Amino acid sequence: MHLIRVALAIPLMQYFDYLLDEALLDEKFALEVGSRVVVPFGRQRRIAIVIDFPAQSEVAEGQLKQVIEVLDRKSIFNPELYQLLRWAAGYYQTGLGEVLFQALPVKLRQGEPNQRAVEAVWKILPQGKAALENGDLRRAKKQQQELQQLSDAGEEGISQQNNAFSRSIYSALLEKELIVSGRLEYQTEAWQTALSNENWLNRQNKLRLNKQQALATGAIHFATGFNCWLLDGVTGSGKTEVYLHLIENVLSQGKQVLLLIPEIGLTPQIVRHVTNRFNLPIDILHSNLTDTQRLLAWQRARSGESAVVIGTRSALFTQFQDLGLIILDEEHDLSYKQQDSGWRHHARDLAVIRAKNNNISLVLGSATPSLESLANVASGKYRHLVLNQRAMNNTALTHRVLDLKKQRVDLGLSEQLLHLMQQHLEKGNQVLLFLNRRGYAPILLCHECGWIAQCEHCDRPFTYHKKQNILICHHCDRKTKVPRQCAKCGSTHLITSGVGTEQLETVLKEKFPQYGIARIDRDSTARKGAMEIQLQQIKSKQSRILIGTQMLAKGHHFPDVTLVAMVNIDGALFSQDFRSEERLAQLYVQVAGRAGRGDKAGEVVLQTHFPQHPLLQTLLTQGYAEFAMQALQLRQSMGLPPFAAQALFRARSKNSESAVEYLTALERFFNHYCLQNNINGLQILGPIEALQAKKAGQFHWQLLLQHSSRAVLQYCLSYFAEIKSQLNLNQNVHMVLDVDPQDFS
Ligand code: ADP
Ligand code: ZN
Ligand code: ZN
Repeated sequence: MHLIRVALAIPLMQYFDYLLDEALLDEKFALEVGSRVVVPFGRQRRIAIVIDFPAQSEVAEGQLKQVIEVLDRKSIFNPELYQLLRWAAGYYQTGLGEVLFQALPVKLRQGEPNQRAVEAVWKILPQGKAALENGDLRRAKKQQQELQQLSDAGEEGISQQNNAFSRSIYSALLEKELIVSGRLEYQTEAWQTALSNENWLNRQNKLRLNKQQALATGAIHFATGFNCWLLDGVTGSGKTEVYLHLIENVLSQGKQVLLLIPEIGLTPQIVRHVTNRFNLPIDILHSNLTDTQRLLAWQRARSGESAVVIGTRSALFTQFQDLGLIILDEEHDLSYKQQDSGWRHHARDLAVIRAKNNNISLVLGSATPSLESLANVASGKYRHLVLNQRAMNNTALTHRVLDLKKQRVDLGLSEQLLHLMQQHLEKGNQVLLFLNRRGYAPILLCHECGWIAQCEHCDRPFTYHKKQNILICHHCDRKTKVPRQCAKCGSTHLITSGVGTEQLETVLKEKFPQYGIARIDRDSTARKGAMEIQLQQIKSKQSRILIGTQMLAKGHHFPDVTLVAMVNIDGALFSQDFRSEERLAQLYVQVAGRAGRGDKAGEVVLQTHFPQHPLLQTLLTQGYAEFAMQALQLRQSMGLPPFAAQALFRARSKNSESAVEYLTALERFFNHYCLQNNINGLQILGPIEALQAKKAGQFHWQLLLQHSSRAVLQYCLSYFAEIKSQLNLNQNVHMVLDVDPQDFS
């Protein structure tokens, strides 16, 4: 009997010991850390992952249960990935089980064998070939036909799976010993052998790099070992071409590449560029894959069969045979941070660790780098590569602020904006209006007494959706009928306030009846394929006016859009989140980047009541880089990230007081701990209400820890995790720890 320690797929830092009967193993004891086993757990059987072979257990020998089955004889994780995941579990203070299981394809989490299916096939025998030549089967036409097909199929044979209808014919052939039934071993051909053939690269698509691109590519290419590069390139500067050259370099050495992007559906261009450039196996991990397809892709990358893997955040946990480069595009994008469920990690930060472990380069690309990454450049951790010129042309963008205070505004649209739209449309161009608010109107209120229709579970106004004729809470997705009367005074005079994309579309249809309109937001693209149709209509210029939320701000390339307008940004100027200005600046640059991508000059317009706001001034007159510099200085002077490390305890409960009590207990604990251990400088803020204090009937409270040293903060957190179970905390409060939080909602 051997003692093993396992982790289960639970969000606890708790591990379990079992005994392993050697009879479950083959001659050789080859069970490894990282292998899957089946164990009894309570009354269930659970899949578990071996994490240790302890010398002894705290559980008495007689109490230990036995492993039921061993699923893998070898670790299912390659050592490099296991190392990353173990590190991550420690850093994010998460149970190793949750981290390990989430890094596996669903099929493997469920215990399916990690083996490639071997296919059953029919194959022709030499006797069969002779029979064909001699015409032995003249009388049995069908048998002769099938045998001929088998002969044509050669060594590959014909799959038995899809041939149920002709099974009797094969049985006959089998009986006559003209064919065999066999299994085709799964065979892999290394893509590297294709490298000796010119065709692996589509040279005709290759662009000649300009000077800045060549310098960036050269620097990365000639650097050895681990390096983290910030490819800071304005929109249109040709970052994609730099990626393609880098990928080519690495592939030509026979090594694999991982390309991470924020969202595949919204940025199909980059995927197309890669697949058009290389005639090599490329796996794209998009959300529409079935579990089986996902498992296959995972296995292909692990065995080294895929040359390039493209995917979103979770693709970071793909295993590779020989990884040579990681590229992470749009590094500032919030989608790299796991926010809502599971363990809250940041794929960019983990990519840095992974590249370091592999001793390879990581390239972070963005037109609007995060302040975190810029600070890492300043401190010498990352190396800065700048592309500050558009690659194609130099059609400059004109920026313009429209002061909403000084003119007539009709349903969110100023006279000046309408006038500009008219001009651009008359020239045959397209116009894009950006409004980060879906639905018809964000508020439904009583004209008599001011009552507002609110979601009682979130204490926030319902959004009115006119087409569906329904109120939807955008915080908890609760839907309710549109009331006929005011709930307070009974008046039937209910009106909407504010403008959403749905209403904008209606208004513009009236104002510009002669032009087609495309609206892209979560509602208009909910049906499968709806997004593609809209994009097609934009491309064919059937749609001349484009309305969209954040979804439309990402990487699309619309060459005929010459005017881009942000309809309403004032909310972001006065948010309580210290990152909101950074996000607005990034969004602004991204939205602006949709204009003038063709060879026509572009114009960007921003509507606001606060044209003198210092952020807007810096951004518009001096650009993102200057804005970022100033913002960084401000953060430094206030001691905020990236100049401090933060960890956020998020508590939620049906009962507000319980959540507060819970966090107060944590506050006391950390205060006491710091005093006892002479730890200075740990700031403990709270408990405070979350920015969205009530959501779906639960109260949300937060406690923020902050320290100028990440190491000290980590030290405190890990001690807390160790003794947490002894603190006697209220079990009815749900708490998650968010290390390096990116938002406070
Ligand atoms: P980014 O991703 O940096 O915003 P893109 O990669 O989309 O920019 O490039 C913008 C445009 O410039 C694309 O149409 C691309 O084909 C073109 N381009 C990029 N590099 C070159 C080059 N070296 N020569 C000519 N055109 C280029
Ligand atoms: Zn009323
Ligand atoms: Zn709600």
